[in-house]
Amino acid sequence: MKKLALHWQILIGMAAGIGFGLLMTQFSWGTQFVKDWIAPFGTIFVKLLKMIAIPLIFASLIKGIADLQDISKFSKIGGRTILMYIVTTLIAIIIGLTLVNIVKPGSGISPETIQTLTENYAQDSGVTKKLATAQSQKSTGPLQFLVDTVPDNIFKAAGNNGSMLQVIFFAILFGIGLLLIDKKKAQPVKDVIDGINDVVLKIVDLIMLIAPYAVFALLAKVIVTTADPDLLKSLLAYALTVVTGLILMLGVYCLFISLYAKKNPIWFLRQISPAQLLAFSTSSSAATLPVTMERVTEHVGVDKEVGSFVLPVGATINMDGTSLYQAVAAVFIATALHHDLTFADQLTIVLTALLASIGSAAVPGAGMVMLVIVLESIGFPADKLAVGLALIFAVDRPLDMCRTVINVTGDATVSTVIAKSVGKLGEPNIKNWDDHFDENIIST
Ligand code: ASP
Repeated sequence: MKKLALHWQILIGMAAGIGFGLLMTQFSWGTQFVKDWIAPFGTIFVKLLKMIAIPLIFASLIKGIADLQDISKFSKIGGRTILMYIVTTLIAIIIGLTLVNIVKPGSGISPETIQTLTENYAQDSGVTKKLATAQSQKSTGPLQFLVDTVPDNIFKAAGNNGSMLQVIFFAILFGIGLLLIDKKKAQPVKDVIDGINDVVLKIVDLIMLIAPYAVFALLAKVIVTTADPDLLKSLLAYALTVVTGLILMLGVYCLFISLYAKKNPIWFLRQISPAQLLAFSTSSSAATLPVTMERVTEHVGVDKEVGSFVLPVGATINMDGTSLYQAVAAVFIATALHHDLTFADQLTIVLTALLASIGSAAVPGAGMVMLVIVLESIGFPADKLAVGLALIFAVDRPLDMCRTVINVTGDATVSTVIAKSVGKLGEPNIKNWDDHFDENIIST
């Protein structure tokens, strides 16, 4: 019997998880049952993906650079990557701002709803924790991110998934060093790294074998911990504005893929769909990164030299979905709480949402932390911040799932376009040991 394609297996797992979660909400013991007996399997899967992220970045980036014939190509890739990340993020913010100004979801929300949401969430530990994290992130200087990119201890950096940029920095230096030393001495090191790279990719492949079951667990947990459906309904206009913006952004990526990478966008989306589905299920671009890297380099055909640099950097600094959401949410909160916004305020949102998305960690809920900084930049009163976040807290998880899909798709798109621009976009090259090797998907 023909094996079902991976994205279908994951989709079925997701649908079953949603169904099971809904069923469990009917029983008084259901939520606890899911938390105790089902959710841990989702957590284990996310931990496995995170576990493999640092070794994968390390091995594939060193291999990518060491394989480069000409080091100047690397600086070209670096410059274009940063530029494209900024351009796509700006497009996302402008789409978000335009939509929220047209739809004005904030003006339709009644004082009673504001009151209920405030009572329910303003003191919620989720909201207060986010405010506290935002405060601690704010007290750093403007060049702190540059300082943070350089590790003082590579083992410490490698021991912390939040220090991905530091690992990237070291791997680039290591790769350059390897390129510059005597070829005879470099060869054995390259061979070892090459072997490690294949082993790590095989591990990603093995982890993906449990993906359909893991997404079942992840989604069942999301369903049983989601807020009251009535509250969700009152925030429908806001949520739909964000989702519409995200869908438009998907259209922008399709344009980039067909105009600049000269590939069929539907084909492209099918190749990366398992990564998108995992982004949706885990709400974390960092956890999805190993799968994004595998799909983009092997199933789309982006050369390792490009993918192994552009994708991890993107997972940390490029968050188009998050910046779009921050723009919509900031205006929504300001309007609902009658904080008037001038044109200059809207321009400030563009700039701070750009910086905030760069600074957001690639983990669930991080976009909401940085939203605090966007709100503060437009003079939103500090004493109302908790109320502001309380307004959107109920729908944050589902929106986080959607914006993470866009974050991951944005990284995949930019890496494909950059690869094309430097002549490094080839044909898919799936390893013969890949358990998700599916000729049908490749040839269509
Ligand atoms: N969860 C998002 C990500 O990992 C970040 C966010 O918007 O909260 O990409």
